[in-house]
Amino acid sequence: MDLIPAEPNDMTILARLAAKTSNSFAAMMQSAVEQLTRQQESKPLPAPVYLPIGMYITRCPDMNGHMLTLSFTQPDIFYPKDQVLGIDWGLTYLLSVAPTDDINEVQYFTLPPAALDWIKRTPVSDGAEWQIIRAFTAKRLEPALAYIVQHGAVVRSENIKTKHMDQGISAKLQKLGLIDFQRAILPQAIYTSGGRSERIAPVGTSVTCHKCAQVGERSGTTLTCPQHGDVNADGNAAIWMLRGGVASGC
Ligand SMILES: [Zn+2]
Repeated sequence: MDLIPAEPNDMTILARLAAKTSNSFAAMMQSAVEQLTRQQESKPLPAPVYLPIGMYITRCPDMNGHMLTLSFTQPDIFYPKDQVLGIDWGLTYLLSVAPTDDINEVQYFTLPPAALDWIKRTPVSDGAEWQIIRAFTAKRLEPALAYIVQHGAVVRSENIKTKHMDQGISAKLQKLGLIDFQRAILPQAIYTSGGRSERIAPVGTSVTCHKCAQVGERSGTTLTCPQHGDVNADGNAAIWMLRGGVASGC
C-alpha cells in the first residue's frame, strides 16, 4: 500500500529525500524550492486561512483505483463567504480560479518552471522521484485550497474525465495527486467550511471566447478569438466554469 501524506511535507525533508535519488533530480528540486519560495513571496495570500490537517490518502488498486480518506479535520472557523468561483485544471496551470468574469482577476496556481519541466519530460514511474514531486505539488496546492475555501461559497470546477484526456497527461495529473485533490480533498474542504461544490462539464470551455462566445483557435495555453485576440485558455475556461459551462450560455 502506498500511503502518502496529503499534508505537504516540510521542504527540508523533501530536499533531503531528493538528495538520495540522483544529483540531477536533487539539483532540480533545489531550484524548484527556490522558485516556489519566490512565487509565494511575490503573491502573498490573505491570512488566516483554514487548511485541513492530518489528511492521508491511500491508493487501493484492488478497489478499481478509488481512494479512501482516512481522516480529516473540521475547521474551527466558518468564513463569511459570498463568492462563486470557477476552477479549471491542467498541468501547466495546475489550477486557474476565476472569482469574477474579468480574466485579469483569474488566480493561477502553477508549479515552478524547474518542477514543471521535469514533470513534462519524465515518464510516470513508481520511483521515489515522483513521490517527492507529488509531495511538492501538495505544497503548491496548499495556498490554492486556502484561497478557494476562504472565498468560495459556491465552487464550480471542471469535471475531469481522464478517459477523454491525453493518457500521458492524465497519468501525470493522477500521479501528482491532482485528481484526488479535485475529487476528494477539495470538495471535503469546501463542504466542511460551509461551502458548496459543483461539477461542470468542460465541453468547449477552453476554445470558446468568454467575451463573445465565438469559437477560437487553441494553441498550447493560448486561445485566439477572431474578435478579441489572445487570452489565457485556462483562465478563459475558469470563467466558463464560473458561469456553469458553455452550454448554459452567458
Ligand atoms: Zn471574443
